[in-house]
Amino acid sequence: MTKYKLEYIWLDGYKPVPNLRGKTQIKEFESFPTLDQLPLWGFDGSSTQQAEGRSSDCVLKPVAVFPDGARTNGVLVMCEVMMPDGVTPHESNTRATILDDSGAWFGFEQEYFFYKDGRPLGFPDKGYPAPQGPYYTGVGYSNVGDVARQIVEEHLDLCLYAGINHEGINAEVAKGQWEFQIFGKGSKKAADEMWMARYLLQRLTEKYGIDIEFHCKPLGATDWNGSGMHANFSTEYMRTVGGKEYFEALMKAFELAVADHIAVYGPDNHMRLTGHHETQAIDKFSYGIADRGASIRVPHSFVNNGYKGYLEDRRPNSQGDPYAIASQILKTISTVPLAKASAAA
Ligand code: ADP
Ligand code: MN
Ligand code: MN
Ligand code: MN
Repeated sequence: MTKYKLEYIWLDGYKPVPNLRGKTQIKEFESFPTLDQLPLWGFDGSSTQQAEGRSSDCVLKPVAVFPDGARTNGVLVMCEVMMPDGVTPHESNTRATILDDSGAWFGFEQEYFFYKDGRPLGFPDKGYPAPQGPYYTGVGYSNVGDVARQIVEEHLDLCLYAGINHEGINAEVAKGQWEFQIFGKGSKKAADEMWMARYLLQRLTEKYGIDIEFHCKPLGATDWNGSGMHANFSTEYMRTVGGKEYFEALMKAFELAVADHIAVYGPDNHMRLTGHHETQAIDKFSYGIADRGASIRVPHSFVNNGYKGYLEDRRPNSQGDPYAIASQILKTISTVPLAKASAAA
């Protein structure tokens, strides 16, 4: 038997966006535990804005498990928060609202800033560094500094060790800003892995005295880019049947649901979705082929393949909850009839 360190990780009840929480329990297993071997656990919901003090127990239900490369015999356990009965999802549990669909695929592009001493890593203590231009995908000390790349690489290795399906990383447009992409098949997979990747990034940077700034426009109304979390999505139907008529019906549904989408696409998004810096204005909905100024970008491949494939919703921001985002996207897609669209196609 081996003693494993199980880090149970969950989302708290803070608004408008939850924070990650985690605590460890030690348990013995013959070998690395599988999901069904991991017990329910509890925590004090009155300390996380998930319960009143008088009756404060909330339940943690393991939903995904990953090896923890930073700890000997470490296990990362992503959890949903449940009511004391262990079966009713807590109202903060956005994961439980995602439609089950094994044919739904998501790819999230997480942008973020490294922050130190209240400003982006690499910014001078007064004023600004040289303007944007060389930083995006840049190389060299004056572009990326002396520690950011080391952190990004360590984070990538931790994620790959955990089995998280990173698809890539890049230095972003603003100084101190980076991106990674996670892709997953199944309606909850990429979102689970995104939350775990965020956890690993925040935990990793503790020892560097650096925070991760997920706010979508940390430098306000300046010429410095904000941070997004583009959501690339496809369903089995979109990939295999699709068609122009279905696509147009889908876009109509997205247009009608614009307020529902913006509501879960991250706080303060009006600061970022201005119509500048490769964004569409928050009160407008548009789509366009290869158009980075549209709400939804339609890849060339989508049109070339007869309106089949994936679409990129560019509106979600870096602070958005990928569970809530995936949930809303699938909800809107589910309002568009398939049979009718295919019969007419
Ligand atoms: P860009 O920065 O040009 O938007 P990225 O490579 O950063 O491009 O992000 C595009 C992402 O789209 C990929 O990382 C991948 O996760 C995702 N993606 C690719 N194919 C699909 C698909 N069929 N369904 C959903 N997402 C997809
Ligand atoms: Mn990208
Ligand atoms: Mn980007
Ligand atoms: Mn993108």
